[in-house]
Amino acid sequence: VIEVGTPDRAVVTTCAYCGVGCTFRAEMRGEELVRMVPWKEGKANHGHSCVKGRFAWGYANHSERVLNPMIRQSVDQPWREVSWDEAIAYTASEFRRIQARYGVRSVGGITSSRCTNEETFLVQKLIRQGFGNNNVDTCARVCHSPTGYGLKTTFGTSAGTQDFDSVNHADVIMIIGANPTDGHPVFASRMKQRLRAGARLIVIDPRRTDIVRTPHVEAEHHLPLRPGTNVAVLTAMAHVIVTEGLADEDYIRSRCDWDEFQDWAAFVSEPARSPEAIEALTRVPAADLRASARLYATGGNAAIYYGLGVTEHSQGSSTVMAIANLAMATGNVGREGVGVNPLRGQNNVQGACDMGSFPHEYPGYRHVSEDATRVMFEEAWGVTLDSEPGLRIPNMLDAATDGTFKALFIQGEDILQSDPNTQHVAAGLAAMECVVVQDLFLNETANYAHVFLPGSTFLEKDGTFTNAERRVQRVRKVMDPKNGYADWEVVQLVANAMGLNWSYGHPSEIMDEVAALTPTFANVNYAALEEHGSIQWPATADAPTGTPTMHIDTFVRGKGHFVVTDYVPTDEKTGPRFPLLLTTGRILSHYNVGAQTRRTENVAWHPEDLLEMHPHDAENRGLKDGDWTALRSRAGETTLRVKVTERVAPGVVYTTFHHPTTQANVITTDYSDWATNCPEYKVTAVQVSASNGP
Ligand code: SF4
Repeated sequence: VIEVGTPDRAVVTTCAYCGVGCTFRAEMRGEELVRMVPWKEGKANHGHSCVKGRFAWGYANHSERVLNPMIRQSVDQPWREVSWDEAIAYTASEFRRIQARYGVRSVGGITSSRCTNEETFLVQKLIRQGFGNNNVDTCARVCHSPTGYGLKTTFGTSAGTQDFDSVNHADVIMIIGANPTDGHPVFASRMKQRLRAGARLIVIDPRRTDIVRTPHVEAEHHLPLRPGTNVAVLTAMAHVIVTEGLADEDYIRSRCDWDEFQDWAAFVSEPARSPEAIEALTRVPAADLRASARLYATGGNAAIYYGLGVTEHSQGSSTVMAIANLAMATGNVGREGVGVNPLRGQNNVQGACDMGSFPHEYPGYRHVSEDATRVMFEEAWGVTLDSEPGLRIPNMLDAATDGTFKALFIQGEDILQSDPNTQHVAAGLAAMECVVVQDLFLNETANYAHVFLPGSTFLEKDGTFTNAERRVQRVRKVMDPKNGYADWEVVQLVANAMGLNWSYGHPSEIMDEVAALTPTFANVNYAALEEHGSIQWPATADAPTGTPTMHIDTFVRGKGHFVVTDYVPTDEKTGPRFPLLLTTGRILSHYNVGAQTRRTENVAWHPEDLLEMHPHDAENRGLKDGDWTALRSRAGETTLRVKVTERVAPGVVYTTFHHPTTQANVITTDYSDWATNCPEYKVTAVQVSASNGP
């Protein structure tokens, strides 16, 4: 039971958990938050919320929150609480010392998809303007970087094509590698409403997620593919569409590159890519696959929604492009009810990417080697900027162990828990001379930090988040920062201690700079956000609330670009020692690595991660529900209780990663997407055996 008092004021703000971006009224009594009430005017949630958002304030008051800066010369020393002045001065002096000794490119930073647009913009600016290099990356590296690559390549921009309301016009909904009921609950409810009204459902997922069969909703087709075979399945669907004459040739001729389409059509038409030819590989019955392809192509408005089950593979970018190919081939881009829609995991992953958090791109997805763009930023910031792309997170860690990368500023990320191959991350962090962590709690990464700068919660600052439908929404300060400063103010203090001359008085001024330097954010400002409630970029003078559906008359890149996506098996192989495939996902009550939700009421609903296993596999190992198991891969070992269930197919096991004790990333491999280095979290060969527990 949550005890609430009588509020005496309310502030409308945006949930800081998932990419749905629900709007809430934070009801206050004095300086105490007593209740979060979903706001009816919220354009993303229309008055709904999930159990995460309703209790989202719990962690702000948690006793483990760190409120004072701390420093230590080496990680084997105890932390020493210091003043903000000392912590900022020490941070700046360490970055300057290290750059003087090891070179300009020996330092870098990581932005957070949990922070505001304004804060991520400032971190990448600190690195580009202050550090003088492009060594900036973000947690999207490990989730949706293949979306950025794939949708930019095929359509011309790194964003979903539709607003959420578009689903009301879908006749066919195809969900690939996503579990919206748990990951994006409020939007899942919208989907289910549409499905109950008659839309037809295809689910492509190794696991039988809730939406496959839930009250009054049943997927017409569930394709429980073998983890790692997305591209083979999507190519076989394309095979059916092309060879059965279901492609929309009028659309393709007018909207896409016809020659490229013909090359792609010839490729997918080959008999080796038929459903029958890949049935044994993918474990998807050919008849189901054919029927799914026919339904997607001929069922009316067909909308694709996908998640990390698409991107977190060695072929993540190929899978995104294979999805885009299907949508273009059937004319399902450019109007309501259709499209290609990444379901973004974190509240501001779209925004963090928009703000230039990648080592090769300025805000607005413009390459750092583009002279005109670089000159514009140089004139605005009064420095000469590096035209060479910087290092991605795994490359920073590699360079650290090689001795050439020495210092890292990490805002709001726990890379030791969230990134693959924990041992590799730990070795990289341990090799650095200065690791600065800015966060709410002493997270796992902070074990390797030399400076800890307390972070502020979303309740303690002004700013904006951009949700999965490109909707920029206000985050409004509900209470003063308990640590003394909002995160954007801390970045400004560090920048000025390094000799820059920043003078932002409010995040609105940062957004004005973003808008001035970023065409997609033109016409986004706080006054317009107050007037319209939210803005879906891009906005124009004629369309001040933005663009609900993209690519209506033409793709952003001009002609839609078909890309041949050949299936290439992952290098991660099962065998006698590791006969099962592990895949991972989330549960409704928790958010990502659980740093926040484990410190709220939500922890009661899911106190530990479990290993789901098919009854046949459990029986073969003498395991029953609740038994402890040892989960081993080529990379490492951990211990979990087993949950015996037919949700997973024989040969596949599944777990969540919300508790640090699970150490799921001790198990995962080093393999990553060929284009973006997004880790292959979703395919790990493992063995499971009985255990006595941790
Ligand atoms: Fe909405 Fe996501 Fe927050 Fe739940 S976690 S309230 S679905 S934004």
